Amino acid sequence: MRGAAVFPGHRKLGIVHDVPEPIIDSHTGVKLRVLQVGICATDREIAGFHFGTPPEGSPYLVMGHEGFGEVVETGPEVIDLKPGDLVVPTVRRPCADPACAACQNDRADFCQTGTYTEHGIMGMHGFLTEFTTGEARYMRRVPPAIRDVAVLVEPLTIAEKAFIQAEQIQLRLPWKRPSGEVHAVVTGAGPVGLLGAMALRERGCQVTVYSREPETDLRANVTRAIGANYVSGQNMTPEQLAAGIGSIDLVYEATGSSMLAFEMLNALGRNGVMILTGVPGAHGPEPVDTGALITNMTLKNQCLLATVNAGSDAFDRAIADLSAFCAKWPDAVRGLITGRFTLEQFETPIQNASGIKSIIEVAA
Ligand SMILES: [Zn+2]
Ligand SMILES: [Zn+2]
Repeated sequence: MRGAAVFPGHRKLGIVHDVPEPIIDSHTGVKLRVLQVGICATDREIAGFHFGTPPEGSPYLVMGHEGFGEVVETGPEVIDLKPGDLVVPTVRRPCADPACAACQNDRADFCQTGTYTEHGIMGMHGFLTEFTTGEARYMRRVPPAIRDVAVLVEPLTIAEKAFIQAEQIQLRLPWKRPSGEVHAVVTGAGPVGLLGAMALRERGCQVTVYSREPETDLRANVTRAIGANYVSGQNMTPEQLAAGIGSIDLVYEATGSSMLAFEMLNALGRNGVMILTGVPGAHGPEPVDTGALITNMTLKNQCLLATVNAGSDAFDRAIADLSAFCAKWPDAVRGLITGRFTLEQFETPIQNASGIKSIIEVAA
């Protein structure tokens, strides 16, 4: 079968025509026909040979971690999935260390050893191919009604895992505040940011998306369509933004710009939580007033949380939320997918980032 691959040893990308078709190797395994796969900055980093590890013994890694497919075959002990079901596979698989409490509890997203594997990223082929297999418990079922946008589930899980944790953290405040009074700022209007903004709006929060694009940009239109406010970084500093809002209770950082993150942290309000999801590329040191930063954080009871990957709970919440988004803002959700490519064209959206979200249509 065909697969879109990176050859890190040869520093090249290409279609491999003879990827061995996977077979179900356990009674609880399932086989999927891949339908669509999303492309993101992680794929661009892998294509730039910054990371990405092929499975042991393979000269190449089949790329793609934002998968969506249809079940075509199930092992004899699979009871809750059947051929024809639509599913999104989770990305990370547990490490082999029996002392890793996270992986032993099926929470590889919190793996303690760092020796986990990830489809399309580390040690396991990804979903940019015709078929994939895995244990049924890693396949999260998707209702047919959101078939056309289910490829957005994986990037939405980043926000869902973050907000599950933020809700737990804010239980530290011994009073209940109506969510309509919670002011959230999302930095970055890419797919992770906009999906996060939708999840916050769905919970009733007041949301401002702060990003570098002008207020006439497509991303600003999506933001306004979900009832959130869009502020261009060209018009306002984080400090001015905070002054206009009053007090920022939550920042969801989805730009990966480390300097902007520190400026937003300075603008965060009392008892606020700031969540980091972006990974800044390697760059030189930048000046930060560490004393002022820590003094401010301490005197305001703030919490800084960083998060990566997601467990099944976040996938299930993402699937439920995406269904809700489609009911409320069908055009805004569908408008996130701005580029569609065939498997053979996979290098185009990886080499030239444009629009909001590009996807590969592996099968119809
Ligand atoms: Zn991704
Ligand atoms: Zn582990």
